[in-house]
Amino acid sequence: MSLKSKFRWLPVTTMPDGSELRLPLHVVEGARPGPTLGLTGVVHGNEVVPTVSTIRAILERLDPAELSGRVMAVPVCNPLGAGALSRHTPGDGANVNSVFWEPGHSRYTEPVKTVSQQIAEVLAQEVLVHLDYHIDFHSGANHAVHMIEFTEDPVSREMARAFNMPVLLRDEWRPGQMWRESERLGAKVIVAECGGGGELYHEWVERSVSGVLNVMRHLGMLPGKVEKPPRQYVVRGDGGHEQNAHILKPKEGGLIIPDPSINPKTMFDGQPVVGVPVLGRLLNMYDLSIRQMFETPFTRTILTAAVVTPSWAYPGSYAYILFDADGPEVEVWD
Ligand SMILES: [Zn+2]
Repeated sequence: MSLKSKFRWLPVTTMPDGSELRLPLHVVEGARPGPTLGLTGVVHGNEVVPTVSTIRAILERLDPAELSGRVMAVPVCNPLGAGALSRHTPGDGANVNSVFWEPGHSRYTEPVKTVSQQIAEVLAQEVLVHLDYHIDFHSGANHAVHMIEFTEDPVSREMARAFNMPVLLRDEWRPGQMWRESERLGAKVIVAECGGGGELYHEWVERSVSGVLNVMRHLGMLPGKVEKPPRQYVVRGDGGHEQNAHILKPKEGGLIIPDPSINPKTMFDGQPVVGVPVLGRLLNMYDLSIRQMFETPFTRTILTAAVVTPSWAYPGSYAYILFDADGPEVEVWD
């Protein structure tokens, strides 16, 4: 199938080698008037998989004749990070999702902007300012992530609900984040953390596409019946994913081997893990000793990020992010 969008480049700045840094923009104009939905991805450069395929599949699936309003999609918000497979931007080492300028936050008021700040400025001025709704895609790099993040805003909450994934995170956006800037400019925002590590690739793409199309039906941008969400576990972030979470990190470098019962399907299913006290083990490949056990203290564990295939890890990196399915920070929506 062909893409239903018009494509153009948004110029950002000139690189040291004289080449132009630019951002890709795809726009689908609907036959009828309506709101503008933004789809963005790869603001973290190492999250190409499966985000880029997801956005492509949505642009293939949309029929302008059925669409009320328009869709603006930027599949890669940080081309420099993507080219280097790095979360942060080579050149200034910044996380683009932390350098959006906001009045009253002096940290971002240097008159000459770094490359990441210039990317953020172009995104804000050329894309975010036009949005009524915004879905920003993230994924894991060598691990899988699984949740839809939303805020206290009722529209954001209902969008998250309509994405139809089993795990949701109630959060608040912080200064410097693209999500906060988008909200400040008038959009209702959710963040889709869907898949990663190349596992269950097509399944994650399909789930995200059907999630976005359902959100669009819910918003009246597409005709058809809104599908009812499954049972959803809603964890509370309180200003960041790490709040209220139990985070397991390797104390030293090595190979993390997940328990055989923790695999890509565990994350895809999104149901609490029961009866698996050790989620994974850290192996030293030289003396072959097990240096660390990644244990959950909970009877029923909700995983929002997890190593699901054997992978190398640096000391202090993220391996597992857990919530207690029976804890006070978790709500169940039936
Ligand atoms: Zn990310």
